[in-house]
Amino acid sequence: MLNKDALHALDRRTWSGHNHTEFCPHGSGEDVEDFIQAAIAQGFKTYSITEHFPLPPDFYQHPVGSRHAVYTASFDQVELPAYLAKMTRLKEAYRSQIKILVGFEFDFFPEFADWTATQLARYGDQIDDAILSVHFLPTGQGLRAVDDSAADFRSGVLAAYGSPLAVANAYLDRMQAAVDWQVPNKPSRYGHIMLYRKWRNGFPAETLWADTTTTQRLTKLLTTITTERALLDCNMAGLFRPTQTEFTPTLPWIQTAQIQQIPLVFGADAHCVAAVGQGYNTYLENHFDL
Ligand SMILES: [Zn+2]
Ligand SMILES: [Zn+2]
Repeated sequence: MLNKDALHALDRRTWSGHNHTEFCPHGSGEDVEDFIQAAIAQGFKTYSITEHFPLPPDFYQHPVGSRHAVYTASFDQVELPAYLAKMTRLKEAYRSQIKILVGFEFDFFPEFADWTATQLARYGDQIDDAILSVHFLPTGQGLRAVDDSAADFRSGVLAAYGSPLAVANAYLDRMQAAVDWQVPNKPSRYGHIMLYRKWRNGFPAETLWADTTTTQRLTKLLTTITTERALLDCNMAGLFRPTQTEFTPTLPWIQTAQIQQIPLVFGADAHCVAAVGQGYNTYLENHFDL
């Protein structure tokens, strides 16, 4: 994996840092080569391929919630060699046109931290770049997805925690644990740190998603990220979702990150070719790349 100095040195005006492939079971199935060609056409010079790393086998011992959330979250571990071989081949094939960083988006699970550490040790030197994200929260029944569907969000984490604000705080606590986690070959970038707001437009306007408790947690989170010299996924995908219509982090927290000089890396979080450049103009025009 590239070290932090190398990642800080990349030109963020032309770096697309968060993209999926046909290996993703909840993606469009379009070939990654078509994603790469779209990225070249849009002027990107660096392109990170960050497929969801396979979820821990123990996760499937006690699956709860929507079957879609459980069984399309990631591809199967048996496909890892094929994934790495294909991405590495394309990295070489397109070397003269774009710098491809082969990598993964890893899920942070305190429950399975040892397993994830083993995977980082095993694959860390075979990849260039990685994101660490939270997509699941613990409930009384087991781990539930935050981002699969509004119905799954309501019947899972919202029912378990009682309010959107409580979900927000639980999510930020888990994100803080991800940032505090000490492990060799740790990913240097944190994914969509406010993913819990994905369904906010389906709730009445007066619903609270933020207050002094979330402010305290986000302040601490960004301070820790600053201390670590880590990078942040400036995830634009939510801007185009009718349920969210905002990017992640939200504008006030992007501004705080900028004051703290945390590098914000453009993230289309593309799961289809049409999404490769989504939000790129907004990212550039608002100088999130600074
Ligand atoms: Zn995905
Ligand atoms: Zn993600």
